[in-house]
Amino acid sequence: MIIGIPKEIKNNENRVALTPAGVAEFKKQGHIVYVQASAGENSGFSDKAYAEAGAELLPTIEDVYSIAEMIIKVKEPIASEYPLIKKDQLLFTYFHFASSEPLTHAMIERGAVCLAYETVEKADRSLPLLVPMSEVAGRMSIQEGAKYLEKPLKGKGILLGGVPGVPPAKVLVLGGGIVGTQAAKMAAGFGAQVTIMDVSLARLRYLSDVMPANVTTIISNHYNIREAITTADLVIGAVLIPGAKAPHLITRDMLKLMSPGTVVVDVAVDQGGCIETCTPTTHENPTFIIDDIVHYCVANMPGAVPYTSTLALTNATLPYALQLANKGWQKACAENEELKKGLNIANGKILYKGVAEAWNLPF
Ligand code: NAD
Repeated sequence: MIIGIPKEIKNNENRVALTPAGVAEFKKQGHIVYVQASAGENSGFSDKAYAEAGAELLPTIEDVYSIAEMIIKVKEPIASEYPLIKKDQLLFTYFHFASSEPLTHAMIERGAVCLAYETVEKADRSLPLLVPMSEVAGRMSIQEGAKYLEKPLKGKGILLGGVPGVPPAKVLVLGGGIVGTQAAKMAAGFGAQVTIMDVSLARLRYLSDVMPANVTTIISNHYNIREAITTADLVIGAVLIPGAKAPHLITRDMLKLMSPGTVVVDVAVDQGGCIETCTPTTHENPTFIIDDIVHYCVANMPGAVPYTSTLALTNATLPYALQLANKGWQKACAENEELKKGLNIANGKILYKGVAEAWNLPF
């Protein structure tokens, strides 16, 4: 199959959908890979590295779309890319159709075959192409939280791990899923005193087994959260209720229970946030302060570490992309239920219930 890797043109998107190692794998399995010049530059992969791995470099995005049977991307196509998409061209990328009606209509009209990373689903209902980005955000939340606890950045001026003779910081992690687990692990590694809260007792049991001794598990309820935030130095918001807005576990009036200079990193901000006062921020301007509490609410945290994020994402996407290339999308989806769940649009029809429902379109 002929594969095309365009350079991402969405604002601030520095990831690329395939690494030189991925190119070598496609070549080994008999495919042709075209990569747009400088597509990997912001993730640390040079054109030379792609060429050495066997890719053909093309100068423009138009060249890539016009030649490829399958386009592999990171973000959904933006409006200027719509006219480049050919009928029956396979697009494998994040789409998030339920948040964009114009994108949904455009893909139907172009006749594209849209396989969305975010809806590829395993039998245990986990989402293998979302997990890597939660892992990145979870680990990063502690790095960012530690930084904003510094006094010049308006934090309390406390070192996460303390030093001999001085106690460490207290870190409260709300939600013990992928983000929360990675956050707790990082904070524990720094030597902080960590509390992780979840509504699932089964999950807390598991965490209690695998976490080091400086991590305590506590069931999540309003009473326990109210108590824990009075002494926390850093709070990580990591809850998710699939398909719904995040619950506001810390409401505006609860901020006054926290001491000045406490930092909240609300990773769940992309689902509305679990701290009521959180609104999305950007890497250029990541924080704001309300009631002396530092709020960090960047909606695309992995974007700041494109090298790691690109490798993490492509580790997960490559096996699926190879199946699509080797078998064609119809056979690959017929034989692999996980990939089939990723099919959102094909032949001008919506094939994913949630997308049809979002825009009141036939399914
Ligand atoms: P997950 O499903 O793995 O974990 C969510 C956890 O929240 C579950 O263990 C669940 O039991 C728990 N939970 C639900 N209600 C709760 C409550 N009331 N109190 C405590 N725990 C509760 O999800 P995840 O992959 O860890 O993702 C968490 C959030 O982070 C999501 O909103 C996701 O979209 C977001 N995220 C944001 C970024 C970013 O850049 N900001 C990046 C990746 C993921």
